[in-house]
Amino acid sequence: MSGPPTYQDVLDAAERIAPHAHRTPVLRSRLIDAELGAQVLFKCENIQRMGAFKFRGAYNALSRFTPEQRRAGVVAYSSGNHAQAIALAAQLLGIPATIVMPHDAPAAKVAATKGYGGRVVGYDRYTEDREEIGRALAAERGLTLIPPYDHPQIIAGQGTAAKELFEEAGQLDALFVPLGGGGLLSGTALAAEALAPRCTLYGVEPEAGDDGRRSLREGRLVRIETPRTIADGAQTEQLGSLPFALLRRAAPEIRTVRDDQLVEAMRMFFTLMKIVVEPTGCLGLAALREMAEQLRSRRVGVIVSGGNIDPARFAALVSGGA
Ligand SMILES: *Cc1c(COP(=O)(O)O)cnc(C)c1O
Repeated sequence: MSGPPTYQDVLDAAERIAPHAHRTPVLRSRLIDAELGAQVLFKCENIQRMGAFKFRGAYNALSRFTPEQRRAGVVAYSSGNHAQAIALAAQLLGIPATIVMPHDAPAAKVAATKGYGGRVVGYDRYTEDREEIGRALAAERGLTLIPPYDHPQIIAGQGTAAKELFEEAGQLDALFVPLGGGGLLSGTALAAEALAPRCTLYGVEPEAGDDGRRSLREGRLVRIETPRTIADGAQTEQLGSLPFALLRRAAPEIRTVRDDQLVEAMRMFFTLMKIVVEPTGCLGLAALREMAEQLRSRRVGVIVSGGNIDPARFAALVSGGA
């Protein structure tokens, strides 16, 4: 498969990952409902295996390797969660994994990747091109490169989170989804199109990196400088081309939020729901809070995409300012 995935691919992915991925809970909070005046359903991928939805796509992609690809191994480049996802999925499938990670990636993410048996190769995210490094490793050693979002099996796997949410929650009026390279949002769009066609999709990216909004507005892939934001899972320079093709068709609304709004949402998750959510995982709630007026009395889903954050960093953010 090389073209964009379809909902059938999401269904196939769901079957393939079911024995290995958690079917994460959908949580509610009376206090959040009261504050926002809406019924809010949180799909908690922060407690997915390895701490983010990315396990879904990674396991789905690696489970399709040929015996030859399995023997040679996989290489991935990532600022963190995709790395951990590939390392864990590879470990479960007995595939050697090499991960290209920025030197300034959160320490917890680097340690976890190594803990899952991944071999980590470092690079400078502001001066070096991780794709080039990944491609060179793939060519030299016969490894299969699995990119974090621009891959049909990755997108199909990520779509399984929303599929589970719609199955459990029924119809939703709106669904808020973090947006980085677009794997999660485009996979979600496939599930929404099939299961909840009247649900309005919101992709949410950091204000410092609004390449997704600009790309969909201008109808071409807009590339930006690596955005400086605490949402390290959405520090992408441009959407993937497969996600872009799917998103042009699905036409989600794109919202942006500032880092201080992410911190506020993180505090809210912790104090009202007792859950730890990393900054990127707070994009959906932060955008929803800004739109509460418009969504009064509606049923609204939020994909809480990940929970990987160093304890010291978490403590500093929730107790201090942005
Ligand atoms: C990767 C990631 C995202 C963004 O997903 P894309 O598929 O790149 O759009 C959002 N949240 C978390 C926690 C992530 O790890």
